[in-house]
Amino acid sequence: MGTYILEISYIIASVLFILGLKMLSSPDTARKGNLWAAFGMTLAIATTIIFHTKNGEPIQNHIWIFAALAVGTVVGWLLAVKVKMTDMPQMVSLFNGMGGACAALISIGEFPHAEDPMTGEMLSILAGLLIGTVSFAGSMIAFGKLNGNIKDWRTKWLTYLNMAFLVSLIAIGAYIMMQPEPNMSLMIVMAVVAAIYGVTFVMPIGGADMPVVISLLNSFTGVAAACGGFLYDNQAMLTGGILVGSAGTILTVLMCKAMNRSLGNVILGAFGGGSGGGASKEYGDYTENTPTDAAIILSYSENVVIIPGYGLAVAQAQHACHELEKALTAKGVNVVYGIHPVAGRMPGHMNVLMAEADVAYEKLLDLEDINDQIAQADAVLVVGANDVVNPAAETDPGSPIYGMPIIQAHKAKSVFILKRSMKPGYAGIENELFFASNARMVFGDAKDTIQKLSAEVKAL
Ligand code: NDP
Repeated sequence: MGTYILEISYIIASVLFILGLKMLSSPDTARKGNLWAAFGMTLAIATTIIFHTKNGEPIQNHIWIFAALAVGTVVGWLLAVKVKMTDMPQMVSLFNGMGGACAALISIGEFPHAEDPMTGEMLSILAGLLIGTVSFAGSMIAFGKLNGNIKDWRTKWLTYLNMAFLVSLIAIGAYIMMQPEPNMSLMIVMAVVAAIYGVTFVMPIGGADMPVVISLLNSFTGVAAACGGFLYDNQAMLTGGILVGSAGTILTVLMCKAMNRSLGNVILGAFGGGSGGGASKEYGDYTENTPTDAAIILSYSENVVIIPGYGLAVAQAQHACHELEKALTAKGVNVVYGIHPVAGRMPGHMNVLMAEADVAYEKLLDLEDINDQIAQADAVLVVGANDVVNPAAETDPGSPIYGMPIIQAHKAKSVFILKRSMKPGYAGIENELFFASNARMVFGDAKDTIQKLSAEVKAL
């Protein structure tokens, strides 16, 4: 009876995961989708604890299980409540790394019990260890980089070293499978090499390419969890792992396309342009405007494009931005937003913020659409964005962001850049746009400046 309940609960959980994921594709249903998937996971965990049996024996060690659940719930809850929206990518990396570590530990735990090394079971164990460990080590490095604790480390030979690591990991795996019995020492060698590879794989990646690697590591963790699902013949774990793996892979491919990078380059950890040139160029002087000057031009424009970036998220200026949009629209100005796929610090960051501020979805135009019409814009308002409007991505082959598609703000008649200083953005490079003849810097916190702009526009 217990087995039937368990299997039915796994099917219900799997359906809830799929429906939850589907709901995440629209801002209107995303919150509900998250809850449905979480409910599915809770159901799968609870029924496993109650009904799972091995050789006719129910699960033991309840104290350990509930203690671990309690610690995980409290830590996860506190982190989720405390995390700032702008620190979400670090948290995603951390949680993703934990998932990879779990998959690797499952493999290590099950390895001595594998009946025959030359089986699909052993293949799942080794794949879970390899992918899970790479995902764990890589995610920890990604966490350090996003948090500003670890710098990029780029040398040409790292690419060859990474290739050598990959080949040796496959060779060690094959050797383990050829042994007459499970050999724990070889398994540990494999785990250590995989951990080093995870580090050297992410070390050279930085600047504008971090989003791609985060989503790739996410898909790795999904595949590693699916290996655990195979091992335990557990449908909920298998479905969950496959969904994360495939969704992460699709996102990685889409991001690669958006960043103009090939997946091959991502896997070998070799992209990111040259040695970081482009930072010391002399562009001349920039022009500064007050919010009053900017408000006059905006009010008398026909078409205005707002390009939000990471600084908008820091300043929490999304509601102020919507207010300004409404004030301009009331004056007959046509306002749209240009949303770059990697603006901010996580995929879809700007879509989430704008949806939170109730900006109409049809006003958010993606890269291609906005670039088609930006030359007709009378004014562009760059709100805390920097790398995603940097023309060096198109013109300077030595730049670390060369090849990344940008929103071509420089093509508009006037460009107002709202930021606090002349400091660079995430990629750490200067921006030629700020020195262009049609560009004006409006210094200050994005929220304060936009509120001043709104007040001026309404007063005109
Ligand atoms: P950038 O990081 O390039 O620039 C943000 C700008 O915002 C800075 O120049 C900063 O200038 C300004 N700023 C910060 N705080 C404020 C504030 N309170 N008010 C006004 N301005 C502020 O952001 P973009 O969105 O243009 O580009 C995103 C970058 O992050 C890309 O390089 C992308 O690859 C990378 N990335 C993206 C991820 C994703 O998934 N989206 C994940 C990881 C990295 P100042 O200090 O002078 O105010």
